[in-house]
Amino acid sequence: MTGGAIRLHQLAKSFAGMPAVDGIDLDIPAGQFFSLLGPSGCGKTTTLRMIAGFEKPDSGRIEVDGRDVAADPPHKRPVNTVFQTYALFPFMTVRDNVAFGLKYQKVSREETTRRVGEALELVRMDSYATRRPAQLSGGQQQRVALARALVLRPRVLLLDEPLGALDAKLRKQLQLELRALQRDVGITFVYVTHDQEEALTMSDQIAVLAEGRIEQVGAPQEIYSAPATTFVAGFLGAANIFDADIVDVVGGAVTCSALGTRLIASVTEGAPAPGAAAVVIRPERITVQDSDTPAAAGMNVVTGTVKHVVYLGNCTQVHVDVGVAADLVVEVPNRCGPASVTHAPGQRVACVCEHDAVRVLQRSTAAPVADPVSALSSA
Ligand code: ATP
Repeated sequence: MTGGAIRLHQLAKSFAGMPAVDGIDLDIPAGQFFSLLGPSGCGKTTTLRMIAGFEKPDSGRIEVDGRDVAADPPHKRPVNTVFQTYALFPFMTVRDNVAFGLKYQKVSREETTRRVGEALELVRMDSYATRRPAQLSGGQQQRVALARALVLRPRVLLLDEPLGALDAKLRKQLQLELRALQRDVGITFVYVTHDQEEALTMSDQIAVLAEGRIEQVGAPQEIYSAPATTFVAGFLGAANIFDADIVDVVGGAVTCSALGTRLIASVTEGAPAPGAAAVVIRPERITVQDSDTPAAAGMNVVTGTVKHVVYLGNCTQVHVDVGVAADLVVEVPNRCGPASVTHAPGQRVACVCEHDAVRVLQRSTAAPVADPVSALSSA
């Protein structure tokens, strides 16, 4: 099987005058595991349903391998969809469920048997062929749903939160299985999720959506470590986001006034213009030390008072009041167990980070998604 390339051009769809998808341009290369990530209601499912042909765009183009498929009904498009609800036929065996779609493709009995066998092997369900869906676990049913989609040999598989109904541990296992399966079969997967960890684990590329528009497209590492907007920074993991004023840009160093002090951010491309901006610092990029211990030369230092210490098992968060509205959150890995953090509320501390831990960004127009870290800080 080989994958199809998808190109969306100015794709738009409104419901009752409210834009659900607001002019999306997207290039999804053949053979990639590509995720559409964003909060509830941002237009992920509507985008997927338009690619599948279940929803008609108001305007824009959808191309698969360079061909406009807008006029094709769903079954004529080289795509297939796997939904969160497995939608298996309860009265049919696993084998008959998987074989079902082949009936309409005029495939011979021998070929059907061979292809169903191969598809069930791919998802490691070959020994369950004679069971009915009610005799399977949720994860097993989703594997059958995958086999039923793959047996039709689509060039693109569209997956709408397919692991949403499973418990956390099984989800993690199936995330890795799905990633391996996509590499095996080599077809393009377009995967809808609101779970940032899931998207980071599985994807070659991620498009982050907000309010029907694309905020950023990139590889997981890029999206997480070099978010393009404050919305992306806030949606992917915990982030400290503060207002900043850029006062000076010299070479790759941006000096800004933020958190009541001067911070230096190193930029590798596109130096920002002086003026109002935002800075983002990931909590795991900051260390916390006694305020009277001198910091190493060339580091950013923000002093403040510890407000909360939150033990989270693998790490401890230290929320530091640095004299602005939101606290600065520092994440300390618990390398020495629960004693890894010795600072207590009320203590003066210095928060220290490298220049390249500070990112200078434009503020997004999209409303930020509530972040549990800042929620705790302002509590
Ligand atoms: P979720 O993660 O909750 O599924 P989503 O990002 O997939 O969200 P969509 O399902 O694409 O979001 O919905 C985008 C917007 O369009 C939402 O405001 C939703 O209420 C609206 N919408 C979607 N389908 C319809 C419909 N058939 N009729 C009216 N409004 C709709």
